Amino acid sequence: MESGAQSRHTNRIAVQEAAQRLAISRREFLRASAGLALGSTFLRSSPLAYAAAPLSKRKVVVITFGGGARDQETFAPEGQRNIPNLMGELIPQSTFFTQVVNRGILGHYVATASLATGVYETINNFASLPPESPTVFEYFRKDLGRPASDAWVVAPSNGFNRIGESDHRAFGPGWGARVILPKHLLSAATSSGADYGHLLHDSYETPLYAPELSGNTFELEQMQSLLKVSVDDFKAHARTLSSPDELSVYIVRQLMRQLAPSLLWVTMHDIDIAHAGAYSLYIEGIRRTDRLCAEVWKTIQSEPEYAGKTTLFILPDFGRDADEDAGGNGFQHHRTGDALSRTTWMMALGPGLRQGVVFDRKLDCTDLVPTIGSMMGFSPSLAHGKPILELL
Ligand SMILES: [Zn+2]
Repeated sequence: MESGAQSRHTNRIAVQEAAQRLAISRREFLRASAGLALGSTFLRSSPLAYAAAPLSKRKVVVITFGGGARDQETFAPEGQRNIPNLMGELIPQSTFFTQVVNRGILGHYVATASLATGVYETINNFASLPPESPTVFEYFRKDLGRPASDAWVVAPSNGFNRIGESDHRAFGPGWGARVILPKHLLSAATSSGADYGHLLHDSYETPLYAPELSGNTFELEQMQSLLKVSVDDFKAHARTLSSPDELSVYIVRQLMRQLAPSLLWVTMHDIDIAHAGAYSLYIEGIRRTDRLCAEVWKTIQSEPEYAGKTTLFILPDFGRDADEDAGGNGFQHHRTGDALSRTTWMMALGPGLRQGVVFDRKLDCTDLVPTIGSMMGFSPSLAHGKPILELL
C-alpha cells in the first residue's frame, strides 16, 4: 500500500503528465490551424531584436483573458470558431506559450494579484485587501521614477479595488497603479442603475459579495478631468454596450488616448458568467473576449503613443474544470484544482518578438512580472518567477 507521501508524489507526477499532454495537444492545434512553427529553446537571439523601442519608450499592456476558458471551447478544432480573432490575427503575430502553470489559489482576485506580483499570493479572495508582495506597478514606478499617471489597472470587479498597490514595507503607499473600476463609475453615474443592470453585475461566483471600496478609488470627477469623458457621454455610451468587459475596453481606449500610460493592465471577466451554468453565455463571453482582445491590439497599432513600441501580453488567470473530473461540474467552475484548470497559456505580441512561434516548455505564471521587468528595465527583486528568455 502506498504511504501518504508516496501517493502525493504519484499524484503530482500524474498532474504534471496531464499538463504536458495538454500543452502538446494545444501546440498541435495551433501548428495545424494557425500555422505556428515550433520554437526551439536553443534559438536564443531574436531576429527582430533591433526593432524594439529604446527602454525609456517601451510600453506594456497586459490583458487577462477573462476568468478562464477550456481548450475545447477555444484552441481545439471544435472551439476555434469561438476565437476567430485570436486564431486568425493575433496568434500568427505572437510568440505563444502552451504551458503556463498556475500553482496558486484559483480565485480571480487572488490569482490576478499573483500574476501582478510574481508571487503566489495567499490573501482572502473575497476581502478588500492589498497584495502582500510588491506589485509590478510599484517596481516599475519606483525603479524608473515614473509618475502615477504612467501605471493603470482597469478591473471588472469592485473586489479588485486594492490590486494596484501592495502593503509591502519596502514600498509604502504611493508607488502603485491607479485602479479604475468601470462598474463603480457607472453605478455612481446612474442613481437607480436602471437600464444598466447587465453592466453592473459584479461577481459571478458570489453575487451577494459587496466589497468595501477603499484606497484611491477613481471617481467620476477624475473621469471627466483626466479621461475627458463627461458623465452624460459615459452613460449614453454605456447604453450601447452589452457587457462589463465592453465597458472596460471603452475606458481603456480613453485612457490610452488621454494619458497613454506605459504600463496598463486590463482584467477581463465576462467569461466567468459560466458560473451561472449557461453554456451559451459562457461561449458568448469567449467570443466577446476574443473580439475585445483584437480591439485593444488595433488601438495599440493606431495610437501614435503605442504603435511600434508596445508589447501586448494576453493570458488567462487560470482555466476551468475538465468534464471528466468527478469532483467538478465541467466548464461551470474552477474548483477541482485539476491539471486543466491550472495549465493555461500566454501569448506575447510586439516589436522585437518572434511571430508565429509556439513553445511548449513549462512556464510558471509568476514568470510574467520578471519578464516585464527585463523588457522595461526595472528589477522585480522579490518576485519568484524568472524572465522568459524566449521573449528577451
Ligand atoms: Zn470564476
